Amino acid sequence: MKSNQQKQEQKQNSEAIIIRGGTIATLGEHNKVLRDHALIIECGKVQKIIPEKELFEGNFLSQEYSEIWSQITILNASGKVVMPGFINAHMHFYSSFARGLIKADPSKNFSEVLTNLWWRLDRKLSAEDNYLSAMVALIDAIKKGTTTLIDHHASPFSAKGSLFEIAKAVKESGLRASLCYELSDRDGEKVAQNGIQENLDFMKWVQSGQEGDQLRALFGMHASFTIEDKTLKSAVEQARALDHKCGFHIHCAEDLSDQEITQKKFGVRVVERLERAGILGPTTICGHAIHLNDHEMDLLRKSDTIVVHNPQSNMNNSVGVANTLKLLEKGILVGLGTDAMTVNMLEELRSAVWVQRLFQKHPNVAFIESYNLLINNNRQIANRFWTNTPLGELKVGAAADVVLIDYDPPTTMDESNFAGHLIFGLAESTVDTTIANGKIVMKSKELLGLDSESIMAHSREVANKLWNRF
Ligand SMILES: [Zn+2]
Repeated sequence: MKSNQQKQEQKQNSEAIIIRGGTIATLGEHNKVLRDHALIIECGKVQKIIPEKELFEGNFLSQEYSEIWSQITILNASGKVVMPGFINAHMHFYSSFARGLIKADPSKNFSEVLTNLWWRLDRKLSAEDNYLSAMVALIDAIKKGTTTLIDHHASPFSAKGSLFEIAKAVKESGLRASLCYELSDRDGEKVAQNGIQENLDFMKWVQSGQEGDQLRALFGMHASFTIEDKTLKSAVEQARALDHKCGFHIHCAEDLSDQEITQKKFGVRVVERLERAGILGPTTICGHAIHLNDHEMDLLRKSDTIVVHNPQSNMNNSVGVANTLKLLEKGILVGLGTDAMTVNMLEELRSAVWVQRLFQKHPNVAFIESYNLLINNNRQIANRFWTNTPLGELKVGAAADVVLIDYDPPTTMDESNFAGHLIFGLAESTVDTTIANGKIVMKSKELLGLDSESIMAHSREVANKLWNRF
């Protein structure tokens, strides 16, 4: 039995939420679609999933809850599906400020996309831009039910403190994020050194544990073709000295030019170079992985390295299509990211299905595999970083990252066909309520705790200044 003082502290530190009346999709390894069940959240975790009638039978509410919680929030989820918040495994918050920018020169290939747009933009980012572009993306994520994001940040001339600015926005949003700084030699040695330092400073801060369960750190790197051997070696040594199990987050063979330049400059293929540098492993993320040969895929598999597929970005940049079916067949853990094209994971999931079918020239492939990228593999990926509390699944003890989506299925929906409803129905529906870490951050489509209108107004002002400097 808890003492009265403990109960009091518990009450002050968290809120209790009972979600009833909806259809619960637990996801996890064995997805259950439950009707007439209630989901009970306490202290940031799923406490119970029980048949609704038990809420009243035996006076459950008064016996177990009323003495501890004077105020329980009861959410009516009727006409809604209750499921875990989505996970985005590759994101760039700073891209928010590229929306509507018309000053970039037209590009005829991916290298020009980088030089004409992204590397021009990231050089101009200030600390305020870093904070606000993240905040804007996080507000969008709340609205789309994405509660965990693995970000990759670049702001070469405001690298110092940049991850801390983004972390401030993450804390305020209530969501979870893993952050890293994009190390690169493209702006010279001094900027590269600052990139290494920012990664190390942030990793140390996160490891100190003061910031709780919202934030995680990886060591970020741009891509093989913009990192010299000396920088790569120094970065890996310093990262390993701080944490011998440290994971890295890097773009990998996104465009054929990464392979061509790497082979010309360093005499090896991209994944071979990463393997020799010692950065592959179960907590390292290789984004894209499009232009790989069998040997490189085997290296990723042997090292249990994570691959993240970003289909909309790949189509947008015309860089090719990752052969997700082959990567999965090899046994590689492949997840789904948006590369900042959107924070709507269901839109990205639909794109993953369509493009793979086009790529494989087969109308009956990549359905359940693409569903698994988002639903099962992103869960496994997130749980490699958030090891304290399971994410991506509704079960007792799991993180209370929960979304309520408006959806009244027009056909039978159960465990056997949930993927079909997710891709063709839920993906087209509206997120009504988002709960992150046991806190309601959006209720009935209204943000709680963040003044979206004034943040967007401020964001437009700051983005205009950035565009004037572009
Ligand atoms: Zn990216």
